[in-house]
Amino acid sequence: MTSQKLALYGGPKTIKTEFKRYNSIGIEEEQAVKKVVESGVLSQFLGAWHEDFYGGSKVKEFEEQCAKYFDVKHAITVNSWTSGLIAAVGAIGIEPGDEVIVTPWTMSASATAILHWNAIPVFADIDPETFNLCPKSVEANISPYTKAIMVVDIFGQSADMDELMAIAEKHRLKVISDTAQAPGALYKGKYAGTIAHVGGYSLNYHKHIHTGEGGIIVTNDDDIAERLQLIRNHAEVVVGDKGVSNLSNMIGYNFRLGEIECAMGIEQLKKLGGFVKSRQSLANRLTEGLKGLRGLRTPVVKADRTHVYYVYPLILDLEELDASRDQIHAALQAEGVAVGKRYQNIHLLPMYQKKMAYGSNGFPWTSDICHRDVNYSKGVCPTAEELNDSTYLGFGMCVYDLSNDDIDLIIKAFKKVWSNIEEIKNNS
Ligand SMILES: *Cc1c(COP(=O)(O)O)cnc(C)c1O
Repeated sequence: MTSQKLALYGGPKTIKTEFKRYNSIGIEEEQAVKKVVESGVLSQFLGAWHEDFYGGSKVKEFEEQCAKYFDVKHAITVNSWTSGLIAAVGAIGIEPGDEVIVTPWTMSASATAILHWNAIPVFADIDPETFNLCPKSVEANISPYTKAIMVVDIFGQSADMDELMAIAEKHRLKVISDTAQAPGALYKGKYAGTIAHVGGYSLNYHKHIHTGEGGIIVTNDDDIAERLQLIRNHAEVVVGDKGVSNLSNMIGYNFRLGEIECAMGIEQLKKLGGFVKSRQSLANRLTEGLKGLRGLRTPVVKADRTHVYYVYPLILDLEELDASRDQIHAALQAEGVAVGKRYQNIHLLPMYQKKMAYGSNGFPWTSDICHRDVNYSKGVCPTAEELNDSTYLGFGMCVYDLSNDDIDLIIKAFKKVWSNIEEIKNNS
């Protein structure tokens, strides 16, 4: 077979110029921000039981729009989704030493939010097709101390919510959805993030829509909503005057989002549907173009849900390819495809391996509040580990403002690498 020499071995590069960076902010956001700046009110929160306890007009308007959009009773803005996750774990009434089951294939804050309340993260394994929590592994990790499940809708596709909610109901657990990467994704006609007891989205500048930094918490539960608002805004000084009787976890923070961010958020939310559609169409074009490449598995999208492609994940069948991921990855990189190898195995972070978080004596794991010795050793999440160690490749769809031509170039680069797979194999 005649094929062009790979860029990795000195041939011409397929993608010669870097793709345009994605920027979701436009003139509408600019104008909205200008109006807020001119008004002079950049935030209107007061950390007291007062009419300003719930924030200013843009905060309220954005929250109303979010509740309408995602079809939930309550939407609560926060200054980051990490803050949102912390507030959510506190709001569902987690006690020190309670166990919360979480996936290792996620951004680290999904688990640190649990630790934050001195609760214990327990890592369950993931589904090899969707990379989301595997319901069977969740069930296998339930102990008498389990109180909640932290579900993550990773890369832009919802987890198996019916199965996970059924497990939660059976064992009386609360469920939190970390839908940071999947705003606008659907699960059986409902928005991902809205099926759990509490869920939400990140508004940081890497995500589909952003306000620089920020987050939105969604829930249909009035009690959880009130507790979220309290934790967001100095709960401890508010509970007395507000007449709140349940003081558990009523330790407040300043997790408030400003008027500027919310004014931008209002405009960003209007654009979310369009962004999602265009990303889906690009991803479908990529999937179509990569079809038939031997030993390469394109994203699996379950029939009852949609994928919003924060990341476009690929899996290599190494037996079929008989080449290493490192070499294939290097060849793609050399052609100009900014594909990443590895994602996350957060259970293997030093904090969990050394069991050192608060202070230097192993708290909370070594304290009396921890009921048992939780295992974070390599091997507890074999699927997530194998993907990370050897078979996964991912393309950050939210990094670039891609055109169909860009997608076609990516396809061309993959085809070139695949037509030279023998050479790669010999160098593996
Ligand atoms: C981005 C992200 C977060 C954190 O969101 P921030 O707004 O950056 O704090 C949490 N979980 C996942 C899965 C994310 O992708």
